Amino acid sequence: MEEYKSRNESKVMTQTVSEVTVAQEQSIEKYRIIREPYYLSVKDEVSIFETAYRAKLPVMLKGPTGCGKTRFVEAMAYRLGRPLITVACHEDLSATDLVGRFLLEGDDTVWHDGPLTTAVRYGAICYLDEVVEARKDTIVLIHPLTDDRRILPVEKRGILLNAPPEFMLVISYNPGYQSVLKDLKQSTRQRFLSLEFDYPPAEAEAQIVAHEGGVNPATARDLVKIGEKVRNLKGHGLEEGVSTRLLVYAAQMIARGVEPVTACVIAIASPITDDHELQRSIREIVTTII
Ligand code: ADP
Repeated sequence: MEEYKSRNESKVMTQTVSEVTVAQEQSIEKYRIIREPYYLSVKDEVSIFETAYRAKLPVMLKGPTGCGKTRFVEAMAYRLGRPLITVACHEDLSATDLVGRFLLEGDDTVWHDGPLTTAVRYGAICYLDEVVEARKDTIVLIHPLTDDRRILPVEKRGILLNAPPEFMLVISYNPGYQSVLKDLKQSTRQRFLSLEFDYPPAEAEAQIVAHEGGVNPATARDLVKIGEKVRNLKGHGLEEGVSTRLLVYAAQMIARGVEPVTACVIAIASPITDDHELQRSIREIVTTII
């Protein structure tokens, strides 16, 4: 338990520094995954992740958007019985956002743990989604957590937190989007094991689309066929193939009665490109398959 300075003790100080440990202990509970997430394993990723967790090694999940990275971490957190704290990284994400800050509450200055500190303190899995989007100084902050020191410096409080064995750092990274300016530096990437993700093989993807989208197996297989053909357009003007997520969206619309071609236009052709020519090509793919 952290030190707690009472109001009396604080009289010698200009401001009271207090902890809200009880509230924080309650707040970790909200990160527990109560129901087992549906995750269809594609190869050996489950056992590899488990081994990495036991070896206390950080993991990078590499792959295009919407191919199952987040669902996989959720399933693993459930399987390992750890809370999961997810942070969607963006260019304004500061070290303070991750580690924590002092906030004025009445006459007191109260320390509030950031998500990374909470994860370290309670041995959670911390998932930094699209880590390359974060500011460089923010990325550097995670370095001491990724080597065998496994510490988090909380500079504002002048303390070092030792990560318990249950803490695990997971980052996701989409190599497809990166420009030279926005690449993950070698000094960062060489601190992680890397699990490569891609769109699931056709049969598995059809199972996923049927399960998540609530459509029959034949419709799911058609959507996956459309997905495969649309993915072949990548490089021919299409920046990235259609995600499993979008195939699931199309299925969900169909399951709710939307006419299938319309569902594919609004869930597949239109979201992935603004180019009308490409949209027409995708529509043609859709009408030949459905
Ligand atoms: P990412 O994190 O890679 O952007 P998600 O994990 O959010 O993508 O996946 C998007 C959706 O695709 C999920 O919500 C889920 O419905 C589905 N999905 C993809 N792969 C799988 C899988 N292997 N098992 C179960 N669902 C999956």
